[in-house]
Amino acid sequence: MPELPEVETVRLGLVPVLGVPIARVRVARRDVVRDHAEQRRGRLDPRALLEHDTIARTVRRGKQLALIGAGGRVVLMHLGMSGQVLVLEAGARVEGGHAHVVWSLNDGRRIVFRDPRRFGGIWLLPDLAALDARWDALGVDGLSITGEDLQRSLGASRRAIKPALLDQSGVAGVGNIYADEALFEAGIDPRRPCDTIAPDEWAKLGDAIRAVLSAGIRAGGSTLRDYRRPDGTPGSGVNGHRVYGRGGQPCVRCGRPLSKALLAQRTTTWCEHCQN
Ligand SMILES: [Zn+2]
Repeated sequence: MPELPEVETVRLGLVPVLGVPIARVRVARRDVVRDHAEQRRGRLDPRALLEHDTIARTVRRGKQLALIGAGGRVVLMHLGMSGQVLVLEAGARVEGGHAHVVWSLNDGRRIVFRDPRRFGGIWLLPDLAALDARWDALGVDGLSITGEDLQRSLGASRRAIKPALLDQSGVAGVGNIYADEALFEAGIDPRRPCDTIAPDEWAKLGDAIRAVLSAGIRAGGSTLRDYRRPDGTPGSGVNGHRVYGRGGQPCVRCGRPLSKALLAQRTTTWCEHCQN
């Protein structure tokens, strides 16, 4: 599943098409696109998809990415489980099909939204105020979260810290992989109730979340085996993870075998010795 680093990598990959006029938008799967009234059927206004407009800038909160048109309209993307955004040079083919929405640019390049498993999608919003209203429900973005932010939003909760991190209303953009990695870096047991975590531990956890997400971005997005950057090249693979996917293997700190269990239905890997 694409996590924050993958979505940020997609956002950075769109920089070369900012300001380039969009000649035409083709929607191959209407049900992938929701209009402002949340409808997934019926005729779409091509202008709502930025036809005859340009992408002035892009913004991201957590795992959601928004294209902001020069005219102020907003195309909000969720990549879901398998979503990709590709920038294709003129004449290049989309490999693997599932090109649900295609923006053809004046210079011959195309932006393609594909999502084979269709858990993601596109939301068409009239303006930035509508985007802000949607994003009010999300917590502070993981790339800028601090220990104080974490303590404020989660500190009174009796839930275990790992599922609390996955709930996007506390921190936006921390998924299963980076939650395990950040808790290992901070030395915090994923089963600890939030209200037992001390201020210095929240501070360590905030630092750890920013660090593991930043490392993921430097790796070009690494969490999905078939993940592709917008230019079509693969992410750098899963080698950088210190606990995720390594249950039973030796802890990189103490050498003891890492524990693995389901916690709130999600596979969780941690070190009983290094994380308390
Ligand atoms: Zn250990």
